[in-house]
Amino acid sequence: MEGNGEEGSSFQRREEVEIAIVGGGMGGLALALALQERGITAHLFEKRGITHAHLFEKHHDLLSDTATAIGIGANGMKALDGIRSGLSKVMEDAGTYVSCRKLTLVNKKGEVQYREQTFEQGEYVSIGFKQAQLVLASYINKDLIHCSHRLVRFESSEAGVDAYFEVTDEDTSSLEYVKVVHTKLLVGADGIWSVVRRMIVGDSPRYLHYVDWNAYVPNPGGKLFGGHGEHEIVLLFDEDGDTRSWLVDAGKGFSLWILRKLDLSGDLAKTLKRSKGGLGIPGSKVEHYSNLMDWMDGMILKRQSRQLMKLIFLSGQLWIVCQ
Ligand SMILES: Cc1cc2nc3c(=O)[nH]c(=O)nc-3n(C[C@H](O)[C@H](O)[C@H](O)COP(=O)(O)OP(=O)(O)OC[C@H]3O[C@@H](n4cnc5c(N)ncnc54)[C@H](O)[C@@H]3O)c2cc1C
Repeated sequence: MEGNGEEGSSFQRREEVEIAIVGGGMGGLALALALQERGITAHLFEKRGITHAHLFEKHHDLLSDTATAIGIGANGMKALDGIRSGLSKVMEDAGTYVSCRKLTLVNKKGEVQYREQTFEQGEYVSIGFKQAQLVLASYINKDLIHCSHRLVRFESSEAGVDAYFEVTDEDTSSLEYVKVVHTKLLVGADGIWSVVRRMIVGDSPRYLHYVDWNAYVPNPGGKLFGGHGEHEIVLLFDEDGDTRSWLVDAGKGFSLWILRKLDLSGDLAKTLKRSKGGLGIPGSKVEHYSNLMDWMDGMILKRQSRQLMKLIFLSGQLWIVCQ
């Protein structure tokens, strides 16, 4: 990155790069790595304050923990190897391969159907979200990753694009200065609330009206709770797919449990508003959950000889009690 020093006020600095990618999520990291592998230098700007040291040496938990794992299917595996030869195997080693996906479907009459899909090793990987990001980031030249850079706006002209970043102190998150990055190409990989997209397209994200509960927990050897075997994903769907549950071997002794509920009326989502990403208004989900509990219990007990876990409401909070 060519720095021209400070310009205008001491609060503003200018720099110049060939390609600027905004956002260090899976998309931004994958693109930065793919370009690097092809000898094209692209700088990546991430608003969160993750230093390279954090990424690769210690404090891995400082990476924003999404409390989830992701599944990478056959197309994703091919794409990874297209980015860098052998990358899909590295992902598999950092997570786990999936050998079987078991689906239990209950129709309106309560009849249960089972389906199983098997996979060859190398076809399907399950991996913690954070681990997948770390794998991608580990190959990217550390001088190309700029953390604590939040894009606020950009201006484009014949000469290229001027992207305005607020640069914050990593420890205190206080604003230090504004950096204007001049670039030939600005790529928006800044997620669902993308500033780049908002400025170009102007639309808002579309809400699919699903509410998810996720629990990504250490479960070595399945000792904490059963429900899925090694290298397995177990799915429970009602006929319309309005209520779904996943139990996933996420690799490295972790399991992921997801419960997803269609919420067209928005009643359930309303209870979450006070605490974004948390458990929401205390006690408010008891009613919603008690129905789901029956549904889950019914399916799990039919599907398996032992009970997976109990959901208990205590003092307005939801507790998951596992065997
Ligand atoms: C619970 C859950 C489970 C999922 N499971 C799967 C799955 O199994 N398989 C699958 O393929 N997909 C799955 N997905 C979807 C997948 O996670 C997303 O599609 C993917 O992460 C999107 O990547 P992204 O890089 O576009 O955006 P993000 O991962 O959102 O990354 C955007 C990045 O940009 C940064 N940023 C935002 N604004 C700015 C700004 N102004 N300036 C600088 N940086 C900024 C953010 O901090 C973030 O790091 C799942 C998603 C969720 C929520």
